[in-house]
Amino acid sequence: MITIKSEREIALLKVAGNIVYKTHQYLKPFIKEGITTNELNNLAEKFILKNNATPSFKGYEGFPSALCISINEEVVHGFPSERKLKNGDIVTLDIGACFKGYHGDSAWTYQVGEINEEKRYLMEHTEKSLFIGLEQIKPGNRIGDIGSAIEIYARNHNLGVVKELCGHGVGTDVHEPPDVPNYGMPNTGPRLKVGMVIAVEPMLTLKRPEIYLEENDWTVVTKDHSPSAHYEHTVVVTQDGYEILTGE
Ligand code: MG
Ligand code: MG
Repeated sequence: MITIKSEREIALLKVAGNIVYKTHQYLKPFIKEGITTNELNNLAEKFILKNNATPSFKGYEGFPSALCISINEEVVHGFPSERKLKNGDIVTLDIGACFKGYHGDSAWTYQVGEINEEKRYLMEHTEKSLFIGLEQIKPGNRIGDIGSAIEIYARNHNLGVVKELCGHGVGTDVHEPPDVPNYGMPNTGPRLKVGMVIAVEPMLTLKRPEIYLEENDWTVVTKDHSPSAHYEHTVVVTQDGYEILTGE
C-alpha cells in the first residue's frame, strides 16, 4: 500500500535524510586512491551511529554492510571489501540511515582522482537524469511520468537504462510501494499525492544495460563490463512539486 506521510513523519524522514546527506559530505574527502571500501564503510557506519541513527542496509535481507559500494562496472549492491580504490575509478556510495524508525536513502557516484571522458560523461548525464525525473514530481502527475522522462533523457544521450532495478517508496521501511521505474510511459502508474515519499534512482550504463548477478547473490554488474553510474534522492511530494529530503 502506498502511504501518505503525516507532518510528524515527514519531519522524521527529513532528519533521517539529512543524516544520509551529511554522511555523503563526510565521506567525500576520503574518496581517494588507496582507501579500501571497507574503510569507507566503517567510517560511514560510525558517523551514522554518532548521529543517533542506524545504517538501513546492514542486515537488510541479509546484506552484510552499512553501505553498498559499487565500483565501475558494478551497478548496485557492491560489498565493501579490502579492495582499494584506484585512480580513474568511479565509485557509487549508496547510503541509508534510519532515525526513530524512519529511513533516508541516497546514492551518489564519485570519481577517484582523474577519470576518462567517457566516465565523466556518464556521471554528468546520469546525475542530470535524476533531476529530469524529479522535475515530473507534482500532485496529479503519475509515477510513469518520472520513468518516461529519465528514459527519454538517457536515450537522447546514448546511455543505457538498467530496468531490473528501480526506485521505491520510503518510510518506516527503506523499500515501500510504489516501485519507481527508470523507464515507462507518461500518464501511467500510481498518481502522485502530497505527502508521498519516494526515492528516485536512475542507474545508467555507458554501453549496454544488460546485467548479471555476481556469485555473492547481491552485486549487480553490467554484462559488457562497461561502467555504470547511479544517483538517488529521497523526496516528498508537496503542493508545488517536491522537496528533497536527502539534502541539507
Ligand atoms: Mg539507495
Ligand atoms: Mg533506494
